[in-house]
Amino acid sequence: LQERLGNAFQKFKGQKRLDEDNVREGLREVRLALLEADVNFKVVKGFVDQVKERALGEEVMKGLNPGQQIVKIVNEELTELLGGEQQGLDLSAKPLKLMMVGLQGSGKTTSSGKLALYLRKHHGRKPYLVPADVYRPAAIDQLHTLARQLDVPAYPSTTDMNPVDICRDAMVKAAELGCDLILFDTAGRLHIDETLMDELGNIRQACSPQEILFVADAMTGQDAVTVAEAFNDKLGITGVVLTKMDGDARGGAALSIKTVTGRSVKFVGVGEKLSDMELFHPDRIASRILGMGDMMTLIEKAQSEIDEDEAKAMAEKMAKAEFDFEDFLGHMRKLKKLGSMEGLLKMIPGMGNVMKQLGKDALPEDEMRRTEAIISSMTRQERRQPALINQSRKERIARGSGVKVADVNVLIKNFKQMSKVMQAMMGGGKKKGKFGLPK
Ligand code: GDP
Ligand code: MG
Repeated sequence: LQERLGNAFQKFKGQKRLDEDNVREGLREVRLALLEADVNFKVVKGFVDQVKERALGEEVMKGLNPGQQIVKIVNEELTELLGGEQQGLDLSAKPLKLMMVGLQGSGKTTSSGKLALYLRKHHGRKPYLVPADVYRPAAIDQLHTLARQLDVPAYPSTTDMNPVDICRDAMVKAAELGCDLILFDTAGRLHIDETLMDELGNIRQACSPQEILFVADAMTGQDAVTVAEAFNDKLGITGVVLTKMDGDARGGAALSIKTVTGRSVKFVGVGEKLSDMELFHPDRIASRILGMGDMMTLIEKAQSEIDEDEAKAMAEKMAKAEFDFEDFLGHMRKLKKLGSMEGLLKMIPGMGNVMKQLGKDALPEDEMRRTEAIISSMTRQERRQPALINQSRKERIARGSGVKVADVNVLIKNFKQMSKVMQAMMGGGKKKGKFGLPK
């Protein structure tokens, strides 16, 4: 998105205020990004209009171009929208009854197991699992298998039972066993149908669950809106579990569902294992929907912590692929004065890896010292043209700075990666970068 915006905004360079023209131009790119993330087109339109209203007339912050300014606004609005409501579950009720609903294959059964584990682990709950999908024998087995894996009790449903009776009786059994969390894993269909909706309505009436969680596959495209709407109209959902976010889905469904139902995502499924479930973080999904990782945060930090003109100069150098070890060193020394190094470093693509490779105990400050030592041992020419650094030079640098050649390699590799990403981010020039890497 940044790259595209960079291109779209060439002609607006240096403009100080967001006006009709540059807002329209910027929002065209944002609209595309949202559609690419599979947000429903009606939702996109509403959202974009809302952002437009806010953006018009706003001043462009020093160091940002109009495109980046618009991304900043969009990101804020999106985060606000996704997280406008209280998240997580209200855990005051005992027993807490959770009813999982959604289309077939969306991840209801898996998520039932995941929630049982999550709430036991983090809140000391005693779960009871209830298979209420009697139409496929495999569905019952699946939940029973998960129950055994977790070592939690489950209702002995069979295919000849009535789902409403199962759920009613299960509450009695759960009480006998002293369980204070009951998870009803209901049936799904490939498409919404009335019979199923009636059955779910009857279960709801018989059990009065505190939460009806709509389980949605993050890959669900434009359909998310229709499906969520149907479930919400009939049952009144209380929250959403967004599954399969470990894939490459950008998560646009989260925005669509929130917009039509007013209900937020509460949990996110990030894998097939039972431990692969996380609380929902609106800011992360917002960035993901817009397709820009943590760079937004970096822009913001750069804004507030580094002198603004400085940041601009750096961005320009990076865009022109002129950023070298010399600049890097100068920059690092400046950053050192600012404190909170770790946070800043982590946001620079590639630097997180440097820290990981050094093990958990290595302080980022140590890493900074080491990096500084390595760069200091380079000749001026090497700093300006890192491509010169061959094996024998690496060995000399390693000796000079008292580190291993491998450490020098890691630094160079990460630096390459960082400048590549930064150049792409800043929507830099078309020529190849300093390292001869295509952008
Ligand atoms: P149900 O029909 O709604 O009960 O869906 P299931 O729980 O049976 O899940 C359908 C498939 O999606 C299974 O193969 C699950 O392993 C898989 N699945 C569920 N949640 C996730 C997730 O968060 N990530 C991934 N990668 N797979 C998931
Ligand atoms: Mg199932």
